[in-house]
This record gives sequence, C-alpha cells and structure tokens, in this order.
Amino acid sequence: AKSAGGNRFQFADAEADARAITRHGLTNALPAALERGEFFIEYQPLVHLGDGSVHGAEALVRWSHPQHGVLGPDRFIPLAEHTGLIVPLGRWVMQESVRQARAWQEAHPGATDGGPLRINVNLSPTQLYHPGLVADTVEMLERTGLSPGALCLEVTESALIGADDDLLKPLRQLAEMGVDIALDDFGTGYSNLANLRRLPVSVLKLDRSFTQSMQQLPADPVDIKIVEGIVSLAHSLSLAVTVEGVETGAQAEQLKELGCDTAQGWYYARPGAPDRIHSLALVDAV
Ligand code: C2E
Ligand code: CA
Ligand code: CA
Ligand code: CA
Repeated sequence: AKSAGGNRFQFADAEADARAITRHGLTNALPAALERGEFFIEYQPLVHLGDGSVHGAEALVRWSHPQHGVLGPDRFIPLAEHTGLIVPLGRWVMQESVRQARAWQEAHPGATDGGPLRINVNLSPTQLYHPGLVADTVEMLERTGLSPGALCLEVTESALIGADDDLLKPLRQLAEMGVDIALDDFGTGYSNLANLRRLPVSVLKLDRSFTQSMQQLPADPVDIKIVEGIVSLAHSLSLAVTVEGVETGAQAEQLKELGCDTAQGWYYARPGAPDRIHSLALVDAV
C-alpha cells in the first residue's frame, strides 16, 4: 500500500509537470500565434425568451493551435491575462467582433424586431483597467460605423469587486456613450446586491449554475426563489436579465416564466461560424 501511495504521488507529480510544461509552452507561443492569426472567433446567438427571435451574439475566442488543435478560451485566456498579452488579443477580438456585427447589420438592417443585431464581447480584468480601453473602443466604433448601443461589454462581477469610482470611470464613460455593460457570471462570487446601484451596468447575466438547477423539474424551490428575487431586483433597477447555458426547452420555459429577458445556450445554438448568426437572423426577418 505504501509503494502504491508513492507511485500515485509520482504519477501526480508527473502529471503536474506535464501540465506546467504545456502551460509554459502555450504561454510562450501566444505572441507569435497572435501575429500568425491562429485565433478565431465563434459566435453564439442570444435570443429573446419571449418569442425566440435573435437579439445578438456573444463572441467567444478560440485558438487553432498547430499541434494541439482547437483550444478553448479556458486553456489560454488565463495565460494571456497573466502575461498581459490579453490586451492586444482582446483588442483583436473586439475589433473583429465589431467589424463582424457591422457586416451583419449591413447585410440585414433591422433584421430583428428589437432593432439591429448586437454583439457581446468579453473583457477580462486587465483589459478593463487598461488605460487605452475607452479610446480603443471609440476608435473601433467610429471606424466600422457600429453604433455604441449595438455593443455590449461583458465583465465579471469579481473584476469589479472593490473597484473604486476612479477605476470605474472608463466603464462609466462607455456606458454614457450608450455601450451596454453586462455583469457576467452573476450570482457566483460574493454578490453584493447593494453594489449594483453603483455600477454602470445594464444587463445581468445569470450564471449557468442557476440554469443547471432548472434542468430537473420540478426545479429546486430555493433556486427558483433566488432567480425570482434577482429578476425582480434587476428589473426594478432597469437591468435586463440574460441566462446562459440553456440546454433544454424545459429550462427555457421555466426561465421565461421567471421573467428572464434573453437567453443563450445549446438549446438554441452552439457557438459557431459568423454566417450562422447571419442565417438565424435572416430566418427571423422573414
Ligand atoms: P462565458 O463568458 O461565461 O461564456 C459562456 C461559456 O459557456 C462559453 O464557453 C460557451 O461556449 C459555453 N456555453 C454556451 N452555451 C452553453 C450550454 O448550453 N451549455 C454549456 N455547458 N455551456 C455553454 P467557452 O467558449 O469555452 O468560453 C469560456 C470562457 O472564456 C467564457 O465564459 C469567457 O469567460 C472566456 N472568454 C471567451 N472568449 C473570450 C474573450 O474574447 N475574451 C476574454 N477575456 N474572455 C473570453
Ligand atoms: Ca461572457
Ligand atoms: Ca458567463
Ligand atoms: Ca463563465
């Protein structure tokens, strides 16, 4: 038993080493990958729960790695965040997404009932606090002609915890321009509901864990109460509520009943190529 324990340890060590080596290798490869254009974006539609029409799409970055195949953002965003490469990478994601959104709009002006298609872009904490954020965003909007109201920046609650008014200034400036700010993964960290009043956000994105608990029906009554509470608080503050990770029609029905506004998840569509958003919105328009 003793030696088995020892082996297990060795095995765990070897695994940890391998992971560290990969992490190291991926981290080093990031700058060249950006230069070589190895990153690409998949878009996942956001739909109105009321009638299922397309509201917009969230941009989700992927890395087409020459050796490891397609890597999801969880594998490299933390590394890019750690080294600061997230700033140029995030700038590329935003630029590409804004350009894409504008292309959809030009192809189908007013494709959805709620107005032109919108684009959601994730911002990591380093990007959020990078001094170039506002100028970069303004420049991209002007260059492409996308209206600020068609852009939604998703920031996590944890990135804003403890941020004082100075740190929130860039976000506030963007919000004043008409850019939507969404609080991503809401309800996971230490949610400070009173804090919401202070933040320039217009959308709450309920974390997938809430959606998951609506999977087995009847759903956990406590979770139902929590979602009900969040929705009513959000609406009283004029915030829209988006739910993510909707995988079944039953979940969609339950969340719609609870008053959530928009939804995203495999039930509607997996993240995919930009043309798909295009054709989904087109179906809507006819
Ligand atoms: P997120 O912002 O919470 O994005 C939602 C994640 O849930 C995505 O994972 C999406 O593919 C996945 N998802 C969507 N629908 C469903 C569903 O019905 N069921 C399940 N189980 N999952 C679903 P993904 O693409 O792997 O992205 C992971 C995270 O990486 C994102 O979480 C976001 O925090 C981050 N990320 C993605 N793109 C970017 C980016 O351009 N910049 C930054 N800073 N972060 C990004
Ligand atoms: Ca997000
Ligand atoms: Ca999320
Ligand atoms: Ca998440």
